[in-house]
Amino acid sequence: MYTGLMGGTFDPIHLGHLHIAAAALSQLGLDRVVFLPDGDPPHKRPQATGAQRLRMARLACEGIPGFEVSDMELSRTGTTYTVDTLRAIRARCPGERLVYLIGSDTLFYFHTWKTSQEVAALCRMAVVLRPGCDRAEVEARQRALAQSHGLDSVLLEAPGLDISSHQVRAAAARGGSLEGLVPPKVAEYIRDQGLYAEPAG
Ligand code: ATP
Ligand code: MG
Repeated sequence: MYTGLMGGTFDPIHLGHLHIAAAALSQLGLDRVVFLPDGDPPHKRPQATGAQRLRMARLACEGIPGFEVSDMELSRTGTTYTVDTLRAIRARCPGERLVYLIGSDTLFYFHTWKTSQEVAALCRMAVVLRPGCDRAEVEARQRALAQSHGLDSVLLEAPGLDISSHQVRAAAARGGSLEGLVPPKVAEYIRDQGLYAEPAG
């Protein structure tokens, strides 16, 4: 089994996240991608509750072959660290090949992750070039992290879509359309729950 792991706050999940998963599935020949909404992220304060973020991730992945959602980070207490997730998956499925999927912005603070050296030893990474990031800079960062951390990373061919959760929250706060930003069922859920009505981060 070759599994892609896609961690994030998913506040809310959007088409950019689904695009990364689809790109990794096809380019790397993965068996599945597991979305892992985080519980209590170290650098962020989500607006939606964990249960709401999980629900939106499930709605977004429903019916898409190879797309799964796990609540393992949400159901862990305390701050969410990727290394704990990777250790748990490794302990449960020792033979599984793991690749962690990230946007290129995330690569620039990988070194701040808890025990980033161990993370690098536990998985490889697939990086999607995010609009606003320079390809040459990202490639230089990949080389630097290979040196400093032994991180094995690949830059996926398909570039990322120009969508962020922040942009979705801002559109919802304005009462604007979420079409083209999130799947229709997620847009409906955001409306029904009155999510992101307040303008905020
Ligand atoms: P926010 O705007 O709140 O920061 P976000 O859109 O960056 O949210 P996160 O949940 O923080 O979403 O991101 C989870 C992962 O998905 C990160 O590795 C991030 O780099 C990546 N990601 C998010 N959006 C894109 C995109 N459009 N293209 C490529 N990678 C993305
Ligand atoms: Mg972000």
